[in-house]
Amino acid sequence: MADSGVRRFVIIGNGAAGTTCAEVLRKQDPACRVTLLTDEAYPLYNRVALPRMLKLEVPESKVFLRTPDAFEQAGIEFLPETRVAAIDAAGRIAHTASGRELPYDALLVATGGRPHPLPAPGADAPNCLNFQTFDDTLALSRRIDGARRAVAVGGSFISYELAEGFRARGLEVVWMIRGPRWLRRILDDEGGALVDRIAAAHGVEVLHGQEVARVPVRDGVATGVVTTGGETLDCQLVGSGLGLRLNTDLLEATGVRLATGVVTDDCLRTSDPAIFAAGDIAEYADQVTGSHHLMGTWDNALAHGRVAAMNMLGGNVPYVDVPTYQSGLFDTIISVLGVTPETAPDAESVVRCDPEARSYRKLFFVQNRLVGAVMIGSIKGKRKLMDLIRQRAEFAGQTERRALLQG
Ligand SMILES: Cc1cc2nc3c(=O)[nH]c(=O)nc-3n(C[C@H](O)[C@H](O)[C@H](O)COP(=O)(O)OP(=O)(O)OC[C@H]3O[C@@H](n4cnc5c(N)ncnc54)[C@H](O)[C@@H]3O)c2cc1C
Repeated sequence: MADSGVRRFVIIGNGAAGTTCAEVLRKQDPACRVTLLTDEAYPLYNRVALPRMLKLEVPESKVFLRTPDAFEQAGIEFLPETRVAAIDAAGRIAHTASGRELPYDALLVATGGRPHPLPAPGADAPNCLNFQTFDDTLALSRRIDGARRAVAVGGSFISYELAEGFRARGLEVVWMIRGPRWLRRILDDEGGALVDRIAAAHGVEVLHGQEVARVPVRDGVATGVVTTGGETLDCQLVGSGLGLRLNTDLLEATGVRLATGVVTDDCLRTSDPAIFAAGDIAEYADQVTGSHHLMGTWDNALAHGRVAAMNMLGGNVPYVDVPTYQSGLFDTIISVLGVTPETAPDAESVVRCDPEARSYRKLFFVQNRLVGAVMIGSIKGKRKLMDLIRQRAEFAGQTERRALLQG
């Protein structure tokens, strides 16, 4: 603590997790010093709204959720375009790349991840883009304006958002998925085929089982992709959604326990009691499932920010929630609840698919407990399933498991 007795909190990353944490700290301890840093140029914006911004359904201005003035009024020191380059965990000091030292009593790492680049020669051309930030969305939008055909690459939610966004802006679209289906660990062949049908009905051509071998470039601009199957797809824009590499680098030299993300207990505390992690990067001990896992959703990041703040203030508040991810799927919706084989590969499942009704439902069980679900089409019964997941309800027999599929 500073000589004045004022507690000092440093938060790295101003996404949903970091910004929420800063605001809760300020509210709970009006005297404390809160510094919120980001290497981006902007205060918090709504990443979930970026697909709608890409489709021109939401104006750019509506994507922003905070202003620098609001932070000033709240007494939060907001430092945009400021990268934290190192953490001295023993001395409890965060070092920015520009040489500023920020001593802390508690530190939050809420640094999220960065998209895996498309691993193909030529993919560094300026019209081969990722989709993560406000700036990415502006760049994609500008390229859409001059394009006739686009290729979306990947089997993730982001690749879907790209395919849908390109199509909504009137482009011809090929959606390339390396595996046998979209969300390959969560869906199965029936679910994948249903998604392909829905995509095809919206004029999106889905190409499975092939990767981008190379990106031909002329005059510095990509002119298409060549697939591993030897096919050339001419296009003026390539968007990729190949998942995230989490930004754990900062903690590598600190001795803090890392796995794929930053390992925390159920209070989001890392193996260093002064360092907390929240949002996409936190590989937290989940009381609901009794295991550690990552959860890359907006609601999870908000809730983590709140819980981390309470515990940075000295509390012992566990994070107990059933994270959900709901997204449009062309003219229908997909909802994913709790834990799926993405993070629990050995989960058992039951499934019901009705292609004519464009309805699909799959439930996941670990040690007989219902831990998660995915629904396409109707989401009737979602709340009940969430309650059952929260209650750690057990379903040992196939009959009782299948009864849950009725909604
Ligand atoms: C296009 C898109 C659509 C999405 N749609 C949905 C949806 O429909 N539903 C849903 O639930 N979720 C959705 N998500 C996911 C959701 O937005 C994320 O899970 C959530 O925003 C993660 O928040 P976060 O605070 O953990 O991290 P982030 O928002 O990633 O923030 C981390 C910040 O830390 C900064 N940073 C990293 N390292 C440093 C450093 N060393 N120094 C300073 N700053 C640093 C980063 O630049 C970044 O600004 C979507 C994401 C995207 C990109």
